[in-house]
Amino acid sequence: MSDYDFDLFVIGAGSGGVRASRVAAAHGAKVAVAEEYRVGGTCVIRGCVPKKLLIYGAHFAEDLKDARRFGWNVPDCDFEWKVLRDNVLADVDRLEGLYKNTLSSHKVELISERATITGPHSVKLSSGREVSAKYILIATGAWPALPEIEGAEHGITSNEAFHLEDAPKRIIIVGGGYIANEFAGIFNEFGSHVTIVNRSATLLRGYDEQIRDRLMQISTMKGIVFRFNAKMERIEKNEDGTLCMHFSNGDPIPCDTIMFATGRQPHVEGLGLESAGVELDDKGAIKVDDYSRTSCESIYAVGDVTNRLQLTPVAIREGHAFADTVFGDNPRTVDYDCVPSAVFSHPPLAGVGLTEAQAKNKLGTVKVYTSDFRPMKNVLAGREERALYKMVVDATTNRVVGLHMIGPDAPEILQAAAIAVKAGLTKQQFDDTVALHPSMAEELVLLK
Ligand code: NDP
Repeated sequence: MSDYDFDLFVIGAGSGGVRASRVAAAHGAKVAVAEEYRVGGTCVIRGCVPKKLLIYGAHFAEDLKDARRFGWNVPDCDFEWKVLRDNVLADVDRLEGLYKNTLSSHKVELISERATITGPHSVKLSSGREVSAKYILIATGAWPALPEIEGAEHGITSNEAFHLEDAPKRIIIVGGGYIANEFAGIFNEFGSHVTIVNRSATLLRGYDEQIRDRLMQISTMKGIVFRFNAKMERIEKNEDGTLCMHFSNGDPIPCDTIMFATGRQPHVEGLGLESAGVELDDKGAIKVDDYSRTSCESIYAVGDVTNRLQLTPVAIREGHAFADTVFGDNPRTVDYDCVPSAVFSHPPLAGVGLTEAQAKNKLGTVKVYTSDFRPMKNVLAGREERALYKMVVDATTNRVVGLHMIGPDAPEILQAAAIAVKAGLTKQQFDDTVALHPSMAEELVLLK
């Protein structure tokens, strides 16, 4: 008999927490997971999943327009935000149900309460119940970080964007990262006038420069307005409910909605970390070793709360590796090398490995191959948008060290190509593969 109520107590039922709970339980552990809001976490409830469904919804605006060039008699169409919103939210409910089923079928006890750590092996729930566990896993994710400006409370974040009463007529999106560019594309397709307000002149830091430039060029062509190097001063709310953003270096911008997409902070507030000696790094993330163990021996942390790579599949891997290590007698770490990522902008972009600049820094001499083309479908549709694929090759070994692309279906294509980059294949091996014609992906084996 164990001296503890549970072998594992997980705080947070998001992607990382649910995976860890399920795998630990499958290894025979007695597991409980506490969740103060909804099962599924950011990805399922207010992130990747509903966002991707909105992206699909948004794309119809272009598809319906293009369809006429392909011979379809499409009458003038209206878009009803509420229909899409409610269908998306219903699908989120369905997925939450599936996540709950997974937990119960693995005999994981779901406790719908807030949990606070009170010691290395103890947790207190908001109902007052106290439980003990041999191990505690913190998987509380991250939460939107808002800049400190007067009137910030009048803005929303992506959390609220899924619940809006209407698609805004005019929206300012603050930030130039993932969420800003994805939602700019979504609302622009729904007919909103979108202005991206960014503190620097750089969008999507970390992505390849040419690819980012192409996104900005296409976004501008589609009507998205950019205000760079903006110094926000305050947000004013007018009597009619409209808003106005004031700057210390430019004209004010009136709008109906302001959305902050200014990064996400590890969600550690009020967790009681100090009671167990769990340390944070200088960015406020929980410090962990390669096995996700914190500075307290019995407490681990995975996912966005550790701020390693704020991506769902990474959190899932960390949760799985943790459970295998601690309960499966199979110590393993997560490999963060060559993790592919994508921005579901309009059009989407995706990348894996080193950008050209990173490769030059790291390797010295590199060869770069690009294909700048107008996808067949865009040509017939009369759409000017060009796709750009870029391959970065180590000039000494001929190994492909980076692939970057923007264009229709870029994330779908890149996921497959990322296997080759991860496997360390050479440019010659790409070239040796016969093209699949006609496709956009064939450009990858035809780069000159
Ligand atoms: P990002 O880190 O991608 O971008 C944050 C943006 O906000 C940057 O442009 C940053 O500027 C700016 N910024 C940060 N702080 C301030 C401030 N105080 N005032 C003004 N601007 C500021 O964050 P997101 O919020 O877009 O997304 C959060 C995370 O969620 C992402 O990092 C990503 O890991 C994940 N995510 C992944 C998605 C995907 O995989 N497709 C989709 C959505 C989110 P600067 O560059 O100057 O720092």
